[in-house]
Amino acid sequence: MAELRIEGLRAGVEGREILHGIDLVVRSGEVHAVMGPNGSGKSTLSHVIMGRPGYEILAGSVTLDGRDVLALAPWERAQAGLFLAMQYPTEVPGVSLEAVLHAALDAAGRGGDDVAALVEGEAARVGLDPRLIERPLNVDLSGGEKKRNETVQLGVLRPAIAVLDELDSGLDIDALRACARRIEEATEQGLGVLAITHYHRLLDVLRADRVHVLVRGEMRASGGPELAGELERSGYAAWARPEELAEDAAPAADPFADPFGPGPFAGQV
Ligand code: ADP
Ligand code: MG
Repeated sequence: MAELRIEGLRAGVEGREILHGIDLVVRSGEVHAVMGPNGSGKSTLSHVIMGRPGYEILAGSVTLDGRDVLALAPWERAQAGLFLAMQYPTEVPGVSLEAVLHAALDAAGRGGDDVAALVEGEAARVGLDPRLIERPLNVDLSGGEKKRNETVQLGVLRPAIAVLDELDSGLDIDALRACARRIEEATEQGLGVLAITHYHRLLDVLRADRVHVLVRGEMRASGGPELAGELERSGYAAWARPEELAEDAAPAADPFADPFGPGPFAGQV
């Protein structure tokens, strides 16, 4: 039984606070969806959980089974059981998917596993062309192939908790179904999931237990799966504050203002 616990998390980048106090607990077998408009801080949350350099932690904690995740290097977080499927998977020229998984399983003490067989099996489950297993990781792959690739890694590595950052972006409907189904099956084996998404369609296959609404770096609402449908019908406006709606609707107050000058969050970090 694994538990990812995020408490009072405030984080920013380049001197600007983006996450203003996030509380979230994801346990084995649970699927938590985080939905929010562009720029609300969803990817920032995923990067902070996984330890991408450049993000500053201002307050709060992230623990996995009580262990301080924020004190670990990204590879140690992976070894501890965390996994991130990136919104924009990185291209790694010269290194194949199989080589990456070989190294990862070696490091995890699973060097005895038949990596080739595992990768082939997972590729077949999500419809990834087996020829891509030997090709450099993500290089020149289509959006759908990249996301299938991420899902193969998840299937082989068997993390305790996976963060999926817009697994559904750049994906055709067949690839989306295949990937979502594979991950749904993994949840039945105990995987806990934090699924960041804009759309309900991912959740048609990967069933969410809880849905959270992230607006401007704050969790504004949490509810059951019905909340995802409600969001898709009504948009995020219902969870914005009146002054934020006015800000979004109004033209820039000063047409000569410096567009690169301090924004609304200046001085908060
Ligand atoms: P979302 O994934 O919800 O669309 P992000 O977390 O990517 O939102 O971004 C939230 C805000 O933080 C945006 O205003 C974005 O421009 C800013 N931001 C995110 N990462 C960086 C970065 N590395 N450098 C500068 N600004 C960033
Ligand atoms: Mg994002």
